[in-house]
This record gives sequence, structure tokens and C-alpha cells, in this order.
Amino acid sequence: MRWNTFRPFPANRVFLRVFGVFGSLLLAMAVLYGALMVPLQRDSLLKVLYSQASTVSRSIIQASSDAMLTDDFGFVVEHNLQVLQNNKSIQSVLIVPRRGTAISITTTGWEMLESDKAPIQPGDYENESFGIRQIPGTASTYRYITPIRFSGVSWGVMRIDFDTSDYLANINEMIRQIVLISLLSILIILPVGYFFALWLTRPIAIISNAASRVANGDLDAHVDVPRADEIGDLSRSFNQMVDALAENRQRLENVNLDLEIKVAERTQALDELNRTLDQRVRDEIAKRKEQEQLLIHQSRLAAMGEMIGAIAHQWRQPLNALSLVLQNIALQFEMGRLDQESMKRLKDKGEVMVMRMSTTIDDFRNFFKPNKTAKLFDLDTALRNAADLLDGLLRNHNISVSIQSEPGIQILGFGNEFSQVVLNILGNAKDALIAHHPAQPSIHIKVAQTAQHIEIRFEDNGGGMDETTLNKIFEPYFTTKEEGKGTGIGLYMSKMIIQNSMHGQLRAENIPGGACFRVTLPIHAAEEATAETDRTSAVPPAPTF
Ligand code: ADP
Repeated sequence: MRWNTFRPFPANRVFLRVFGVFGSLLLAMAVLYGALMVPLQRDSLLKVLYSQASTVSRSIIQASSDAMLTDDFGFVVEHNLQVLQNNKSIQSVLIVPRRGTAISITTTGWEMLESDKAPIQPGDYENESFGIRQIPGTASTYRYITPIRFSGVSWGVMRIDFDTSDYLANINEMIRQIVLISLLSILIILPVGYFFALWLTRPIAIISNAASRVANGDLDAHVDVPRADEIGDLSRSFNQMVDALAENRQRLENVNLDLEIKVAERTQALDELNRTLDQRVRDEIAKRKEQEQLLIHQSRLAAMGEMIGAIAHQWRQPLNALSLVLQNIALQFEMGRLDQESMKRLKDKGEVMVMRMSTTIDDFRNFFKPNKTAKLFDLDTALRNAADLLDGLLRNHNISVSIQSEPGIQILGFGNEFSQVVLNILGNAKDALIAHHPAQPSIHIKVAQTAQHIEIRFEDNGGGMDETTLNKIFEPYFTTKEEGKGTGIGLYMSKMIIQNSMHGQLRAENIPGGACFRVTLPIHAAEEATAETDRTSAVPPAPTF
């Protein structure tokens, strides 16, 4: 809807109200004006009648006073007939003396009647009275009654009747004029009111209509109200608001479009990813396997290194003894004392040494031979055998090992893998003790059994670890040892063995003066022994020699 679109009678409520109020006010004013004006005008006309009546009565009394006092009725009649002739509005004059004969003079003649028969009230001799009288069947009359006094003495009464047709005509004329003025006013003011109401309410209707369109989503709905008042301001603000809304909607649409494009791109990327996911998973698995192989290889090398070191220490004593035997043979030969008997004794001695060395090799080989199936093994024996393997190495550094355990605790699992774990932990404790060199380097192995668990604690007094190290020791390749001495995979492998193969837990913590490694194994591991003797290892196989 445009501002200049003309509709003769806008059917909106505000218009009807404004126009209705305006019209009612106008009507009320006209009625009020009439209601106030008519009595006012009537009063003023009555006053005019009164002053006319009192003037006429005074002039008659003045002119006829002598004749009245001398009972000269002829003069009185003559004079009054004259007055009636001159003043057409006077209908009749009645003069009633207190005593004697009253005279009634009308436009048609005169007559005399006895005073006491005259239509006069006793009070009329004393008081003036006047007013319109409505005599049934005749026109109304204005009657004026006044006492006649001479020198303060009441002589009689005069009554004058006036014709009210002029008065009534005036009143009617006045009413006619008031009605005319009211009608004219209504005729003039009604269109003015109509246009005023239109002027006031049309922009409101336009803005309201546009607001409805905006509410229904039409943001092209603008209003054109070229006015310099508050309504003009309102329309301009409305247009600004609609513009801002349209701008925001555009922005929102752009954002949506961007979003849709992004979603499409992401969906495409996701499709692409899905298509290549299988391949990527296969690649990742292959990479993982490769890394595991590398780990296994490194772990084997590390174990081999450890084993060679341990064998070297185990062999040191029999090798020394063998060397002494050989030196003894050479010495006795040089001295010519090498007879058959001493040769046999020295040979036997040498063979014992060689046998011991060979047994050591077998021990190690057995120890590192991978188990194919899970079997029951004795925990105490496993711990002692592992400690024995490192015996030479530990003794070399004055490290004492104590084992508090009860024989007979059976564990289901891969015995050699478990021994590898023990060797790793003992090896690390040994390294820490060598680095920290306490006065009495020692390792305590304590076994405790509860209803659900078996707990094996490896405690040392090698100084323990700082917080950062403690948090990382089970990660692969984490080591604090210098190049060539540490690989960082010992504890990682150990944790894998305890968790995956033996369903237990391996934890580390600091204790006063050192570190403690805790292996917790579920007790049912032993009970399952009969049922699960064929279980295969969940960790890479230990190195074989
Ligand atoms: P590596 O022995 O080759 O370093 P590990 O995984 O066996 O690898 O050990 C990781 C690290 O854990 C070691 O480098 C060492 O810093 C720390 N660690 C292990 N055991 C102990 C211990 N008993 N006392 C102090 N530190 C230890």
C-alpha cells in the first residue's frame, strides 16, 4: 500500500475510533450549545418583554394619574385606546381601583365592571407579577400586573396582556438558527474530522500493514510516509529496521551458503577418506607390524647383549680355573712331573670347568627358549633362577639380592617370558644401583599372596626416579641411559608380557631411597592352569639362542 493510494473509508479500527470520537464530540457540542443557548435567549426575550411592559404601565399610570384620581374614565379609556392602537403587541389593559368601577380596554373596545368582579388576586394590589400564561384553546399571553400607587398609597391594580407571537417567533427563529448553525458546523466539521482521522490513522495503518508483511517474511515491504512529524520519523525508522533485517537475512543466507559449501567439501573429503580408509588402515597395520618387528628385533638384541654379559660373568670364574689348570699342566710338564695320574686329575678338573661353562650356556639357552604354550610354573623357582643368572654380574658390583617367597605358588603362563620381565627389572635395578652407588646396594624381592592376587615387589635402593621419568618409563624407546647402554624397550616389553600374556599389571613407584616395581598377577591364573594349558603367547617370542 502506498501513502498516496486513496481509499474513501479505510476500515481500520483506529480510523473508526478517531472519527467516531471526533463526530460524537461534535454532536455533543452542538446539543450542549442548543441546550444552553435556548434558555438564555428565552430569558433575555422575557426581560425585553418585562421592560416593555413596565415602561408601558408606567407611561399609562403617569398619563392617567389625574384622571384616575378624579374618576375621569373617559380620559382613561381614551388614552388607553390610543396606547393599544400605537402598540400592536398590547392585547388588553385592565385597570382595577380598590373601590369603584374597573375598566377593561381591548383592541376591539372597552367595558366597565365592578372592581370586586374583576379577575384580580388580593396580592396583586401589593406585588408586581408577570409571566407567560398559557390559556387553553388560545395563544399564549405575556401578562404583567402591577399595583397603582399614588404618593405611596395603593390606589388599585393595572393588568396588561401582551401578544407573545413576536416572542414565540423570536424563540422559534432562534432555535431554527441554532439547528442551522449546528447542521452547518456538522457539515463543515465532519469532512474535516474525516480527513483529520484519515491523516492521523492512515500512516499507522500503512505501517501496521507493512509490519504484517515483514512478519510474513516480505522484507521488501517499505513505507513511504513523507511527513516531518513523529509518524514520519516512525516510518523512516521502520524502513531502516526492515533494511537492517534484509541485510542480516542476506548475511545469514551467505553464511548458510558458505556452510553448505563447507559441508559439501567436508562430505566430499569424508567420502574420499572412506574410499581410501581401508587402504590406509591396511597401510597403518603394516606399518605397525613393521614397527613391532623392529621392536622385537631390538628387544632380542638387547636380551642377547644382556645374556652375553651375564654369560661372560658366569664364565669368568670357570675360565680362570681352566686357565689355572692349563698353567698347572704346563708347569708340571716343564718340571717333568706330568705323569699319567696328574694328567688325568688335571684333565678331569678341566673337564669339570668346561662342563660348568657348558651348563651355563644350556641354562641360558633354556631360559630364553620361547614357550609355545602357557604352562604352570613355580614362582619361587622362576625368581631364584633369574636371580642366579645375574648372580655373577651382581656380585661383581657387591649387590646383594634377597628373595622372600614361599615355594609352591604356581603361576599359569609363559615362564620364560616372565623370567625376561624379572631379568629386565633386576637389570634396571642393577644399573640404578651402579649409577647411584649407595653404601649397601641391595635388591629385595618380596612375594605376597591375597585372596585375589599375587604381588611381587622388586625394591632397590638405587635412588628412584624423578616425576617425569616415572611417567614415561613404560613408553617404548624411553631411556635415561647413555647411548649404547639403554634401548628403552625393556619395561615396555615387560608391561606387554604382564598385561597381555598374564593378565596382570606392572606398576612402578618411588620408595624411600629407591624404586619399587610391582607385578600383580590374578590368582585365578593358577586355577585356570588345567583348562588353558594350550594358550599361546600374546607377545612377540623371546629371542632364541
Ligand atoms: P633401558 O633400561 O634400556 O633404559 P627400560 O625400559 O628397561 O629401558 O627402562 C627405562 C628407564 O626406566 C631407564 O632408562 C631408567 O631411567 C628407568 N628405570 C627403570 N628401572 C629403574 C630403577 N630400578 N631405578 C631407577 N630408574 C629405573
